[in-house]
This record gives sequence, C-alpha cells and structure tokens, in this order.
Amino acid sequence: MIEKKVVLSGIRATGSLHLGNYLGAMKYFVKLSKDEKNSCYFFIANLHTLTTRINPDDILRDLKEIVLTYISIGIDPESSVIFAQSSVPETSELNWLLACLTSVAELEKMPHFKEKKDMKEILHETVNVGLLTYPVLMAADILGPLANKVPVGEDQHPHVELARDLARRFNALYGETFPVPELLEGEAIRVPGLDGKGKMGKSNQNTIDLMDSPEEVLKKIGKAVTDTARVRKSDAGNPLNCGLYTLHQLLSSDGELMEVYAGCTSAQMGCVDCKKILVENINQLLAPIQVKRFELNEKGSKYALEVLHEGGKRARKKIVATVENVKEKMGVPLY
Ligand code: SF4
Repeated sequence: MIEKKVVLSGIRATGSLHLGNYLGAMKYFVKLSKDEKNSCYFFIANLHTLTTRINPDDILRDLKEIVLTYISIGIDPESSVIFAQSSVPETSELNWLLACLTSVAELEKMPHFKEKKDMKEILHETVNVGLLTYPVLMAADILGPLANKVPVGEDQHPHVELARDLARRFNALYGETFPVPELLEGEAIRVPGLDGKGKMGKSNQNTIDLMDSPEEVLKKIGKAVTDTARVRKSDAGNPLNCGLYTLHQLLSSDGELMEVYAGCTSAQMGCVDCKKILVENINQLLAPIQVKRFELNEKGSKYALEVLHEGGKRARKKIVATVENVKEKMGVPLY
C-alpha cells in the first residue's frame, strides 16, 4: 500500500468565494483531492478570521457557505477532510508550543504583518497580538496534521517558510517529529481583479462571486477596467496590459485567445465583443457549480454542520496524536 502524502490548505471564513479563489486555488484543490496518492485536509480558518473584528453570525454564515461551496466544486467530504480550525483546540495548544520556539523579530519582519500594521496605524486602529502571531498559528495548522504538501498563493509563501523553519528547528532540538512541508506553487495563479489594480480579492471589492447570476457577471464584466491606453475601439490595445485578457487565458479556448489577441492588437475587435466571449465562458464555468450548490440547499445548513462535525473528528484524531507527541518531547505532557 502506498503511503499517502498529507495535503493541507485553509481559507479564512470571510465573505463569499469568488472566481479568484476558484481559479487561483480551489480548482487545484479538487485536482489534488482526486489523486489517490494524497490525503487532503481542507480547513476553514475561523480562528485566523478573528484577527479582524467580525460579527460572530457572519463568521458562522460564511463558514457554512464555504463548506457547501467546497462540495459544490467537487471536493468529496468522504475522501477529503473538511473541517473548521476551531474544531481542533489542540491546534491552539500547538500554536503556543511553537510560539515558544519563534522569535518576535521573525514575526515582525513578515510582509503580511508589516502591511497590516502600517494600514492599521494609518487608520489609528489597534494592532492586535493575533496579527503578529498569525503565522505561528498557521505553522500549527500545517504541522499539526503532519502535512507534506501545502498549496498556497504567493502572498502566503513567507508563512509556509516559517512553518518549514519551525519543523526543522523542532526536529533539531527534540528529534525527528515533523516532515518539512513542501510548498506547492505549481498551479497557484494570481487572478486579476476587475478594477485593473491588482489581485481579485474580497477586500478589494473587485470580484466575480461563484454564485453571481449570469446577469450579475454581465454587469460586472461590462464595468471592468480594460487596457487603459485603449480609449476608442479604433485604438489598438495591448492584451498584456489588460486583466480581462488574463481571465481569458484562464477560461477561454486557444482559438478564442488567438481571436482576442489578434482582434485587440489590430483594433479589429472592440472591448464589448471581447467581454461578451469572456462573460459566456465565465457563466459556463459557474453554471454546474451553482446547480450543485442549489441542490445542496435542500439539505440545508444542517448538512454543512454535519460535514464540519465529521471532518472535525477526523482532523482532531490526527492532530491530537501529534500534539501529545510534541508535549512529551518538550517535557510538558498531560499528567
Ligand atoms: S479587447 Fe479585450 S483584451 Fe483588448 S483591451 Fe479590450 S477587453 Fe482587454
């Protein structure tokens, strides 16, 4: 029997999932979950969500919605483990144990922390300790189930590097315990937002949501920023300066791509026609996901809670064993 590799990935429980989440990560999760050489753990990081003050009802609503969306895109809750971070209290315990092996300087230099801290200071908001120690909790998430592979986006690389350092550090101090997790970046894609300013993201309000209706998709793409240097249809455009062309590259056929590229650069195709092709392809992608999601409505949020309950039990079983081992080795067992 082949020894399966543990694949772990998490997502914060905030807002509805969008095309950037799907094309940038979730599509890849489905592929990983269908590979029988992998044992996949997908968790919703509802504890990390608390670094931002969010209404508890919203966290719960978003958590359930993410579970149902994961299932709608094709992740099978029987073969993969879908769970909430809060279902495994031992992860928080591991967070403390690993925090005692982490220097404040390491955390202060994390780009994510520096960016958030600067923004909070501009807004005169409190920088909470959770923001600083966020990467240690993420290391606990990764090391708890003894993950071998971690598929994450580029912005999370420094955090996974910390988890890798902590695995090596712990192994050197206390003996071989953690596999050093491999960063899977092969298919992590940066999906541009509709405002032409950067990545598609909930906080940037520049998304196509996975549950958007065809009319909403049409409206959003209609307003999306294109190559800003192309003012009139008669101006030749540069698709490489247009976020919508990147979306075409992710969604359209080779024939359509050639047609768009040639039409844009020769001013034979206007942005309206180019957008029509894109809208059609987005709607084609979303339709089966939405059908499955509406089917799940019949089972209701009770089903999402059942999945979380079962997933939580399975994840906890694995993580408890790691944390017990770690505590033994560090000299602080349960008496
Ligand atoms: S034709 Fe398409 S690729 Fe070219 S600028 Fe317009 S939307 Fe972008």
